[in-house]
Amino acid sequence: MGRIIAVANQKGGVGKTTTAINLAASLASKNLKILLLDCDPQANATSSLGFGRDPARRSLYNVIILSEPPATIVQKTSLESLELLPSDKNLAGATIELVEAENREFRLKQAIVPLKPDYDFILIDCPPSLTLLTVNAMAAAHAVVVPLQCEFFALEGLSQLLKTIDLVRANLNPDLDIQGIILTMFDKRNRLSDQVAADVRQHMGEKVYETIIPRNVRISEAPSHGLPALVYDLRCPGSQAYIKLAGELIKRERARMAA
Ligand code: ADP
Ligand code: MG
Repeated sequence: MGRIIAVANQKGGVGKTTTAINLAASLASKNLKILLLDCDPQANATSSLGFGRDPARRSLYNVIILSEPPATIVQKTSLESLELLPSDKNLAGATIELVEAENREFRLKQAIVPLKPDYDFILIDCPPSLTLLTVNAMAAAHAVVVPLQCEFFALEGLSQLLKTIDLVRANLNPDLDIQGIILTMFDKRNRLSDQVAADVRQHMGEKVYETIIPRNVRISEAPSHGLPALVYDLRCPGSQAYIKLAGELIKRERARMAA
């Protein structure tokens, strides 16, 4: 199938990396072949899956700047059908190096062409910015998943992101879709969480997934063990929520294909 989905929001700390990893793991647990592509120079997805700093390990930098074949850089993870294309801090320089590059918005799209037949889904964990790396991710993607933290300024950041998606559609990728908006870090003891969730649903309607990701300490512990949450603790509410989200994502993909 080779559907490419970017997990994006220019705000940091909203749950992009957590969503990218756990959605990827949940899809993999449904026997789909998944590649998680770490597009953030901070390499949080890479380290969260147990890959510590290693200057010898090649990364997405080698793929998009040095044009090395991506299949030789992909790593296996604790889950059989989840693989990782790691990041490292070299990628920070890529943002600058890309400015001068030919086809600078399409480097990632071109680089992952040979990988597409090998996976059902390729999920891209985007950096917390709207720089060329995120533009590359959105130019390569079929659709975007937007994590929104249930906090007061959630909607404010969203309008900026929607404008960027419109710009990408107008100039680079006319078919870019919003797969959905996922409310993250929902705290049921905090009335503000309910309020924000209601506001986002009112503004964005059906784009918002029914599933809400609860704030759950097991979710934040899993990365220090180098594991996706469902390998670390399958039964915790966070893992269960991401499994449910994966089901919704697949349902939306099926509806799209049937249409
Ligand atoms: P981003 O990639 O958008 O910067 P992260 O996914 O890294 O955001 O999340 C920011 C922080 O919040 C991390 O420390 C992460 O472990 C924590 N976190 C994310 N989602 C949850 C959750 N559902 N419950 C508890 N902690 C969470
Ligand atoms: Mg992140």
